[in-house]
Amino acid sequence: MHALGIDIGSTTSKLVIVDTERKVIVSTAAAGGAGTSGPLKAVDEAFRKTDLGWNDIAMTIATGYGRLAFAPANKQVSEITCHGVGVHHLLPLARTIIDIGGQDVKALALNNDGNVTRFQMNDKCAAGTGRFLEVMARVFELDVSELGSLSARADSIIEISNTCVVFAESEVISRLAASEKPANVAAGIHQAVARRVASLASRVGIVSDIALTGGVAKNSGIVTALSQVLGQMIVVSPQCQFTGALGAALLALKAAQATDNNKDSKVVAD
Ligand code: ADP
Repeated sequence: MHALGIDIGSTTSKLVIVDTERKVIVSTAAAGGAGTSGPLKAVDEAFRKTDLGWNDIAMTIATGYGRLAFAPANKQVSEITCHGVGVHHLLPLARTIIDIGGQDVKALALNNDGNVTRFQMNDKCAAGTGRFLEVMARVFELDVSELGSLSARADSIIEISNTCVVFAESEVISRLAASEKPANVAAGIHQAVARRVASLASRVGIVSDIALTGGVAKNSGIVTALSQVLGQMIVVSPQCQFTGALGAALLALKAAQATDNNKDSKVVAD
């Protein structure tokens, strides 16, 4: 039996297929989130890599911003629940999740069973999100994936005081025009994002282990800055961008197995 979870975000579609043993068979990410061809591209790639097709999938759960628009899904589940399940599976000791995506930031508190007990979210403004970092990367003429290694070369941190992406972009341009070292400015950008995110996370109460998830967790500059601002170690799984999709796949597997058990007990009763 196989179950599929798909997390359709604002910028990227992530997909995970698990088998009966809860083992990940394949995970794919496609550029383009809600309202784009991204979700179907993620499906095509997963099926191509595994030789599986829709007939092999017992249950599909969609989560994320675009979850309501994915026709093949049997069910939709909120990303809060799915991130909780996915992180608990990968990092059972995590009690706080900070998820930084393309256009939003979430902070979740988990209990010992991996259930979400509190959460906070900023989806109203780009400050502290992947979008903020993408705009800043463009100023350096870099890809966002290169910002982390740039800031690793910093020998001091240039304070970026504006949190609004538009004003912060001008501030960064003027710092670079004043011949500040790009690495030091990049470190300041990461610190500004980390402060913003830490203030959101503090509203759920930060308890270790702290897991950082979402595509932005792949930015080592953010991981370093956030652990400095929080004064605590942060755990990042190599699967950090897939935790929502993984949670959806695990919930889909559980639902499919429950349906199967019901069928079996009905046959016995008959
Ligand atoms: P969403 O669910 O909102 O689409 P994701 O959690 O998939 O968001 O994360 C997307 C964000 O992650 C984008 O802003 C993207 O720039 C950032 N991102 C993806 N890969 C990397 C990387 N290697 N380094 C830094 N940032 C990354």
